[in-house]
Amino acid sequence: MPGAGRRNPDWEWDEIVLACDLVAQNGWRALPAENAQVIELSELLQRMTVHPLEARRPDFRNPNGVGRKTADIATHHPQYSGRPTHGNVLDEQVMGRFLTEPDMMHAMAASIRASVADGEPHDFPRGAGYDGESEIEGRYMLRWHAYRERNPTLRRRKINSVLSGGGSLSCEVCSFDFAQAYGERGRGYIECHHVEPLHLGGEGPRTIRDLALLCSNCHRMIHTRPPWPTPAELREIIRRQAEGQAN
Ligand SMILES: [Zn+2]
Ligand SMILES: [Zn+2]
Repeated sequence: MPGAGRRNPDWEWDEIVLACDLVAQNGWRALPAENAQVIELSELLQRMTVHPLEARRPDFRNPNGVGRKTADIATHHPQYSGRPTHGNVLDEQVMGRFLTEPDMMHAMAASIRASVADGEPHDFPRGAGYDGESEIEGRYMLRWHAYRERNPTLRRRKINSVLSGGGSLSCEVCSFDFAQAYGERGRGYIECHHVEPLHLGGEGPRTIRDLALLCSNCHRMIHTRPPWPTPAELREIIRRQAEGQAN
């Protein structure tokens, strides 16, 4: 049996956010394996691509495991009077966020669920994030950044303003145009990037001027590791690189 005999991989940040959201909505009480929401979360976690299939045991994130995780989280709540079960530092960090910023964290859980449903990659590269932040903080910020960049109203307004100005939906850094490269399949596709530096718990982009339209490569390259270059700085990196190769 593949992977038998080994432990399942540790829970990742995004997975803990989903479990914590369930526990928070249940009044910080654990949920049993038979609970419909636990079963649903178990299926969702198995669909996520955070952990490669080779690393999973047959009981990976099954309802029993998910139920146990909700107990680990619930018994670490500051108001829990009994003896805490297993748990780790990451659980406590995520719970700490839920206690101080419940609305934001609930929105984050919804965003993770939506990205799994859309089949989007939701595992960010290691080390991605903000300069000077810990990895966990970096991943938290990157997730939050991605959530705000998906603001559909602002995105629509940005795209409409470019089109009504006679422009095309091409990357502001490298001019890549999805419709030109992929035809009908690429029509209307572009990614929105929030240019302003973000602060923990700060507002999302407020105007379309804060947004840049980017191709997936340039967007990914900006977020690959801190500090994040601006689109203009990334354009300069590409220019210098091309110059170096021409010499
Ligand atoms: Zn580009
Ligand atoms: Zn971005």
